[in-house]
Order: sequence, then C-alpha cells, then structure tokens
Amino acid sequence: MTAASYRRDYITRPIFRWARNVLPSLSATEREAAEAGDVWWDADLFSGNPDWTKLIAFPPAALSAEEQAFIDGPVAELCRMLDDWRINWEWRDLPPQVWEYLKQHKFFAMIIPREYGGLGFSAYAHSQVIRTISSRSIVAAVTAMVPNSLGPGELLHRFGTKEQQDYWLPRLAQGREIPCFGLTSPEAGSDAASMIDSGVVCRGSWQGRDTLGIRLNWHKRYITLAPVATVLGLAFKLSDPDRLIGDHEQLGITVALVPTNLPGVTIGRRHLPALQMFQNGPTSGRDVFIPMDNVIGGIAQAGKGWKMLMSALAAGRGISLPSLSASGGAFAAHVCGAYARIREQFHVPIGRFEAVEERLGRIAATAYLLDAARRLTCAAIDHGHKPAVVTAIIKQQATERLRVVANDAMDIHGGKAVQEGPLNYLGSFYRAVPIGITVEGANIVTRSLIQFGQGAIRSHPFLLSEINALEEPDPARALDEFDRAFWRHVSHSLANAMRAVARAWTGGLTAPAPAAGMTRRYYRRLGRYASAFALAAELKRREMISARFGDILSELYLGSAVLKRWDEEGRQAADVPLVAWCMETSSATIETRLDEILANLPMRPVAWLLRFMLLPFGVRRRGPSDRLTQACAGLLLAPSATRDRLTAGIFHGTGDNGIARLERAFELTIAAAPLHERLHRAKIRDIEAARRQDVINDSEAAALHAAAQAVAEAVAVDDFAPEEITRRQSLGDMPSQAMPRPTAAE
Ligand SMILES: Cc1cc2nc3c(=O)[nH]c(=O)nc-3n(C[C@H](O)[C@H](O)[C@H](O)COP(=O)(O)OP(=O)(O)OC[C@H]3O[C@@H](n4cnc5c(N)ncnc54)[C@H](O)[C@@H]3O)c2cc1C
Repeated sequence: MTAASYRRDYITRPIFRWARNVLPSLSATEREAAEAGDVWWDADLFSGNPDWTKLIAFPPAALSAEEQAFIDGPVAELCRMLDDWRINWEWRDLPPQVWEYLKQHKFFAMIIPREYGGLGFSAYAHSQVIRTISSRSIVAAVTAMVPNSLGPGELLHRFGTKEQQDYWLPRLAQGREIPCFGLTSPEAGSDAASMIDSGVVCRGSWQGRDTLGIRLNWHKRYITLAPVATVLGLAFKLSDPDRLIGDHEQLGITVALVPTNLPGVTIGRRHLPALQMFQNGPTSGRDVFIPMDNVIGGIAQAGKGWKMLMSALAAGRGISLPSLSASGGAFAAHVCGAYARIREQFHVPIGRFEAVEERLGRIAATAYLLDAARRLTCAAIDHGHKPAVVTAIIKQQATERLRVVANDAMDIHGGKAVQEGPLNYLGSFYRAVPIGITVEGANIVTRSLIQFGQGAIRSHPFLLSEINALEEPDPARALDEFDRAFWRHVSHSLANAMRAVARAWTGGLTAPAPAAGMTRRYYRRLGRYASAFALAAELKRREMISARFGDILSELYLGSAVLKRWDEEGRQAADVPLVAWCMETSSATIETRLDEILANLPMRPVAWLLRFMLLPFGVRRRGPSDRLTQACAGLLLAPSATRDRLTAGIFHGTGDNGIARLERAFELTIAAAPLHERLHRAKIRDIEAARRQDVINDSEAAALHAAAQAVAEAVAVDDFAPEEITRRQSLGDMPSQAMPRPTAAE
C-alpha cells in the first residue's frame, strides 16, 4: 500500500463519510446559481494571495472609434432631446419622437450582433452610453437599458436556435419589436424560482394548424416596458403531464417568447416606480397558447430557464446598474462641487464649511471609486469573463454607495434640491435610488447570501471540487476526487494561515507589492486583508456573518479597482487624495468587519485564536483623516484636470435648464474670484461702493454683477400658481368634507 492510498483509505475516508452526512447538498437551483458565469479576480482574492502583476497587466476597457462616434453623435443628440421634468410630470412618458429616435438609432440593440443588424457594442461602450444618458434622464436611461439587459435580446443571442435568431434579432434590432422580460410575480420576488406561473405542454391551434405547444397562465408584476411591449420573454414552470416531449412530467423553469397580441395576454396597465415614468407594469396571461418553437433554444432548452437566466445575469448585472450608479456619482460630484462653490451663507461659500467638506470629500472619492470599479468590471466582461461574484459585488456596492452620495448631494443643496420643478436637477436622481437597490437581486439578499455565499463555493480554490466529489455517484471515484481536493485544501489553508499571521503581525510588510510609490502600502494592506479573509472565510455561515464577509470581499475588489484606475490613468499626482481616501476607508471597513465577525462567531475558542492571528493589535485603521477629506472636497470646488476626469462623459446643461444655470454661475464665480478677493481685502461687500472707491473698475464691476446675477439664477427654485398644482377641475372633484369651509363667526 502506498502512502497516498493509506492516506485515502484511513484518513480521508472517515472525513469523507462525515462530510457526506453533515454537509447539505446543493439543490438544482442552488447549483445552477453557484455554477453560473465564471471566476476571475475574485478567485485571486479568495486564494488569500492575489497576484497584483496579473491585475496590473489586465488590459483596460476601451472604446472603438465607432463606439466613440455613437456617444458623440446619437447619444449627445438624444440627451439634448430629453426634458426630464416634462417627461415625469407632464407627459408621464417619453415623447413619441424620443421613442422613435431610440429605435431608429438602435439604442435597443447595443448587444445585438452586427450580422443581425444590431450595434454589437462592447460592454464598456454599452456602459458609457447608459452612463451619459443617466446623467440626463433616468427614465430614458432605464428605457434604453432594459432591452440590452437580461431579456429576449440577450437570451436569444446566447441560447436561441438559428431560426429564432434569424427571425427575432433583426426585428429587435430595427425596433420593430419592443421586448420586456417577465420573471417577478407577486408570490416570487427575490425567491424567483418559487414562481407559480405555469406552462403545460399540449397540442393546440397555431395559425390554423394543429401544433405541439404550451398553454400558459401567468401573473407577473413590476415588469419594465411591459405596458408597451410587443414581445414578452416569459419565465414559467413547465410541465408535460402527457409526456409529449420526453420522460419527465415536471421540466422546471423555462423561458419562452410570447407575442403580446395573442389572445389571453394582458398588458397596458402601469405601475409608477418612484415617480420615474419609464414604462413598468403588470402583465397576465390566461390560457395563452404558444408553439414549442417559441421556447428560447427550442425543446432542448425546456426546463433549463433558470440556468440560462443565472448565466445571463452573471455578466449583465455588472453593466447597467453600475453604469447608472457611476453616472450618479459623477453627476453629484459635478453639481455639488459647483453649488457648494457658488452658494454662500454667512458670507462664505458653503463648500468651505468643514461639515460640508466632509460630504463633498465623500462624494469626490466615491465618484472616483465607482467609475474605477465600473471600468474594471467592463474590461473583464469584454475579455470574455462572466464573473458572477464580481458582478454581484459591483451591483450591490454601486447602488448602495449611490444612496449615500444621493443623500449627501441633497443635503448640500438644501431646499434647492427639495423644491420640485424644472430647475431641480436632483429630485429624480434621489427618488430613483431605491430602484437600483431593488432590481437585479435586491441588495440585502445580494449582500448577505450571494456575494460571499456564492463566492465561498465558486471562487474558493477547492470547495466546489469537494462538493462535487461528495455528490459523485461512483463511490471509488468520489473518494479519489475528494481525497485530492481535500488535501490540497488543507495544505492551501495551512500555507494561508502562515501567510496571514506573518502579514498581520508585520502590518502587511511581508505582503508583496508590485509598485513603488504611494500605492505600495495599499497593495500590501490589501494583500494582508486578503489572506486574513481567506483564512477566516473557511468558517462563515450565518447570514449576518456572511454579509460581513461579503463586505470584506467587496472592499478587496473595489480597492483593487481603485489602485488599477490610478495606474491606468498614469498615476496622476493630483488624484492621490482620492486614491488615499478610498483605500483608507476600505481598510477601516475591512478591519471593522473582521472585528465584528470575530466578535460574533459562535465557536469562541476559534474566534479567540483567529483574533490573535489576524487582528493582533485590534482595529487600527480609522478611515481618512479630516485633512485628507478636505483635500478631496477641494478638488470639486474649482475647475481642474481631476475634476474633469471625475465628471467625464456626463451630460452638461443645455439652454436655460438648472444645470446650465449652475455651470454658468460656477464659471463666472471662478472668474470673478480674484475680484472678490480684492473686495474682501478692502473690507467692502458692495460692488458699487467698491467701484466708487476705485477698488475695481467698471468692467470688473460688470463682471461681479454678472456673476451675482448668474448665482441668483442658479439658486432660484420654481414656484407655481395654485391652479398649476391643483387643477380647478380636480378641486371640483374633491369631497367637500375634505376642505372644511370657514364659518361665519371666523
Ligand atoms: C422599478 C422596478 C423594475 C423592475 N423590473 C423588472 C423586470 O423588468 N422584470 C422582472 O422580472 N422583474 C422586475 N422587477 C422586480 C425585481 O427584480 C424585484 O422587485 C426584486 O427581485 C425583489 O423582489 P420583491 O420586490 O418582491 O422583494 P422581496 O423579495 O419581497 O424582498 C423584500 C426584502 O427582503 C429581502 N430578502 C428577501 N429574501 C431574503 C433572504 N433570503 N435573506 C435576506 N434578505 C432577503 C430583500 O433583499 C428585500 O430587501 C422590477 C422591480 C422594480 C421595483
């Protein structure tokens, strides 16, 4: 007997038996979710020893000349056509010419390959388009986004039969069909796989001929574009009681295309999602018959819908919502910096108050981080990855950080952002935040179950092989495979434990860093935290602990993205405060979460040992210093290359709208700053008095007046006549009891 077979038969076998008894096996839907997409940088982070040279060498996301031309041409033109106020408050829809423009210029076909008449854009180009439109109108951005996300276009492209692709993709590309995708139902939201919408294989009449098909019944809600869709991608549970297409009665979740003009289909009613007037509503179907050919991928894909959806989501959720969130970050940086500079209280620009600087600094650094993560994720997708764990991280983190930024932006603007009207450029953006948080995997569930839960299985170097071995039906093969994976796992964990201890006790000094200069310490710190994470992550599993591991994994990914961005942009010295702010915040979050995990782990002796190994000196990182935050804030308060890098690609104001007024006031205020300084030194506030005393000349006085006028216009808000708000007609409809009339005595 060799040493290897002795180990397998006498040591591994009992462990194998024990593991088989105690470890729950994965259900089919769990396995399909866990196996969706692939692993990428997340696997490096899970290894405990990320290879930074690999990250640095990873090619950055880039646009082709044609993609750039699309952004400079049709995207810019579309943005000029949009009037967010009227879309939301008057028309309650995009105007017909905008719908037409979207179809004509193939905004709905960014992901459809060129051979079918689509634009065939890269993920990065798609993301840039959404980023720019979002800065102008969330309604238009969501409308353009949805046909390019999880739905008929993508599913047909990836899983459709040749005939389906040849028929549907050109129609979608030309805008002859408006698609929507129906997964969510009243019973099944986050737990979408529990849907009760059903399809039964049967024979029926299709275009006058007896045909093998499916009789569908469904009730879906929250479906974007459903009220105007011509084709519905429908997810339902398929059964085949008469065994017409195979041996199984229950086939499982299936996805099919349902033309919305079929008898029995109901669409048209609308929800009002956070008062953002994109088309969104319920749909139902009663005994709707479709031919088997409408199942995406044909009979071969019947019952494989969940796998298809998970696989499409693995890449898709890394594009749309992160782009919208990065756009929100950049937009907030743009308008808050300008507003905090032009708005004065107590004779000081509000951006100079420390407590406002605290918010501005956070906005600036968050805008830097969100775009760093967006670009890195798009680059991975464009290089063929479908990194399910990474996209779960960026979807949740980007939308969550957008909420923080949106709150900061509102607070900095005060009443200016609260009072609704055409001059308010923040209200829509603020209201829309919970939409991103809820869709494509609600954030609480994504943070607590998916990021780390899926990552711990998928991105871990050995765990999935061990689980697979435990579920292998051939006993000899199962033991062999388990033996191999298990001992590699053990030796990996031991090596990682030593690495983690050495790095923790030396403050990261033993961790490798690819670069000299200011980022060296941050690479080392992330290396230290990655090894601590990988070691502690062997334990997990309750939801709150899993969520904290999800946070650490997220910070490791976002921190990697920030360091990568700084490198890619030529290590700009002026951007150092932003990089440092992000990395200091990340370090503090990681150490705090690790501390919380160790405080809450049920196995106390293990927790004590881990604390001694991984956090020997306690939580040392407290986040960015006040001075660093002030430096970040300062970057937004005056024009600079850093400010331009942060806000590149967002749409600027047009005509006399609120943003155009703000930009004009910012420009004039900056230009007049030396004159203000002169007045200040002369201790004169009044422009005319300064002119009379020859502190300034006539043209300088005119410049100061122009700046003051522009500021007054920029801080102005809308007001309305009573009948504009409550129309007379509806006043007449009000029950008289609702409006008590004054009595004679009063
Ligand atoms: C504006 C809008 C557009 C949408 N568009 C579409 C569309 O086009 N097509 C489509 O099919 N769907 C669409 N949806 C549906 C969306 O995907 C769902 O809203 C989402 O999946 C969450 O479901 P729910 O709203 O029912 O929340 P619920 O599932 O009821 O969740 C409520 C809360 O509980 C949390 N939660 C649930 N389970 C767990 C758990 N196990 N652990 C911890 N927390 C948990 C969730 O995170 C959430 O915070 C849209 C929704 C909105 C609001």
